[in-house]
Amino acid sequence: MYVKFISRLFSAMAGPRPVVMSGPSGAGKSTLLKKLLKEFNGVFGFSVSHTTRNPRPGEENGKDYHFVSREVMQTSIAKGEFIESAEFSGNMYGTSKAAVQAVQAQNLICILDIDMQGVKNIKKTDLNPIYVSVQAPSMDILEKRLRDRKTESEESLQKRLHAAKVDVEISKEPGLFDVVIINDDLEAAYGKLKDVLLEEIQKVRDVNKSS
Ligand code: ADP
Ligand code: 5GP
Repeated sequence: MYVKFISRLFSAMAGPRPVVMSGPSGAGKSTLLKKLLKEFNGVFGFSVSHTTRNPRPGEENGKDYHFVSREVMQTSIAKGEFIESAEFSGNMYGTSKAAVQAVQAQNLICILDIDMQGVKNIKKTDLNPIYVSVQAPSMDILEKRLRDRKTESEESLQKRLHAAKVDVEISKEPGLFDVVIINDDLEAAYGKLKDVLLEEIQKVRDVNKSS
């Protein structure tokens, strides 16, 4: 009992593991993350990525993304300020070192919402996250969700559907993800996500209790 407590305390002191959420655009990553951040206020923190795409209605600069020009982003990448970056659907996206550090400095579980190129690049770092893939039940449902969201032009939609087909295939690679969640029923998918993250959630709570 005592040994278990001490070992949990030490692992908590090492800081919680970050979480990488990936999967096709429209699969439901943001929806699941928003639920998680709302329910576990003070446990999770979102790594705010940079992007060169335009903000969608309702998106806030500095909260959903840092919306920047291609020039600004390329300069920052050249200066070594990014952990990873990728080109997706005609725009640049990337995780800055500062974005992750800002979350980890608060001893929160850092969540990264990144595409498949990002996953492969994060695998080369020492971040050691839990890798979660969120998938839609089928390509038809994915297309319907993306169309119903009404955020994409037809061109952007087609690019995203093409990327989704590649994503679905790659995500089957054994060992690439710790878990693949099929987001059919939202509550069931959310329940599965919480199950996977339970141990890390407990670590943050243990630290909060002992401090
Ligand atoms: P992503 O962040 O992966 O691009 P979103 O979270 O924006 O995807 O979800 C895409 C659309 O699908 C949104 O309009 C969202 O409300 C809807 N959606 C998400 N999960 C479900 C679900 N389980 N069932 C039905 N619609 C969903
Ligand atoms: P969206 O334009 O729909 O917000 O995001 C498009 C894709 O870019 C999604 O698959 C999302 O996970 C990914 N993405 C968002 N931020 C980053 C990032 O910092 N790095 C990488 N590699 N992908 C990102």
